[in-house]
Amino acid sequence: MIENQPSPSDYQNVAFECLIQAYKSICKVDNEELAEGILRSDIWDYNEIVLKTSVILTHQALEALLKSKISEIDPLLLLEQKQEKDKTSKKPVKCDFTDLYTISGQELLKIFFTNVDSSDYDKKLANHFEEVRLLRNKLVHGIGADKLNPEPVLILIFRTFTFLCGKDSFWDALQDKFYEHPAQLEGEPKFVFERADQYVHLEYLESLLGRGEMNKHFEHDFKARRYFCPDCTGEEGVLVTEDGQASLYPNFKYTFLSPNEADSNNVNCLVCSQDFEVERVDCNKKDCKGNVIFIDRDDEDIDEETGEVYTEPTKICLTCNEIQ
Ligand SMILES: [Zn+2]
Ligand SMILES: [Zn+2]
Repeated sequence: MIENQPSPSDYQNVAFECLIQAYKSICKVDNEELAEGILRSDIWDYNEIVLKTSVILTHQALEALLKSKISEIDPLLLLEQKQEKDKTSKKPVKCDFTDLYTISGQELLKIFFTNVDSSDYDKKLANHFEEVRLLRNKLVHGIGADKLNPEPVLILIFRTFTFLCGKDSFWDALQDKFYEHPAQLEGEPKFVFERADQYVHLEYLESLLGRGEMNKHFEHDFKARRYFCPDCTGEEGVLVTEDGQASLYPNFKYTFLSPNEADSNNVNCLVCSQDFEVERVDCNKKDCKGNVIFIDRDDEDIDEETGEVYTEPTKICLTCNEIQ
């Protein structure tokens, strides 16, 4: 009798925490330690331990995610030593799952592919596992590892999420597990993961990894036309740049047609996860080629009985953000 058997979500939680921590540490260096006049590569040489730790955490997470998937079938498949019988009483010995040896490495991958339906998973998973395992071994033993750079390590983190949990799983976990800091309710803005911070993360990742790589890990098509969000664009107010130009902040475009079709009447914002109704007519501003117009029905006033329209809904072009 084996007590305290783990559930798939136990392993998944551990994995996501490792991966988000690996990501957070890299992101923190890039966002807090870069200084004018100093090469980014010098900053990263100094911080290489952050990248090493992130690889080790990614390896840990990868094993935990494989265990999560295997334990969906049967957690006992994870045990190296099978349950021992008490020979005198012929009754099963009671023991705790955490006291037993669990499989790892090559064995884990073998058990995974012989027990789960591998058609659900990316064919590149086995190669990815091998790449992370070898790199982690080199780092742990301190021999033969090339100098690490942040971008490839970020891609290892992304792939671990996507290959095992699907597109958007990185972003969902990040939104879920970022700053749940105890001080955030005490008015400490630096600990709060606001929507404006989410825009900064998307900008950071996109500028570092490029749209092609982002498309491998997000459902939305980063190469498609993108729009302002009717709700969270400009939420923080106005940003005045050095040359005196004022713009809304945040003003990054992470809202997409959903579905992504020419006649789609809906957009979805990656940051606030909301859907918004749009109509597909040309913007009436001279220099704007936009044709995705948000219909804000909050302002609409219609007599329910007669259907008479007292006040029209407000319409805003999500390309130039101008009222129509
Ligand atoms: Zn939004
Ligand atoms: Zn427009």
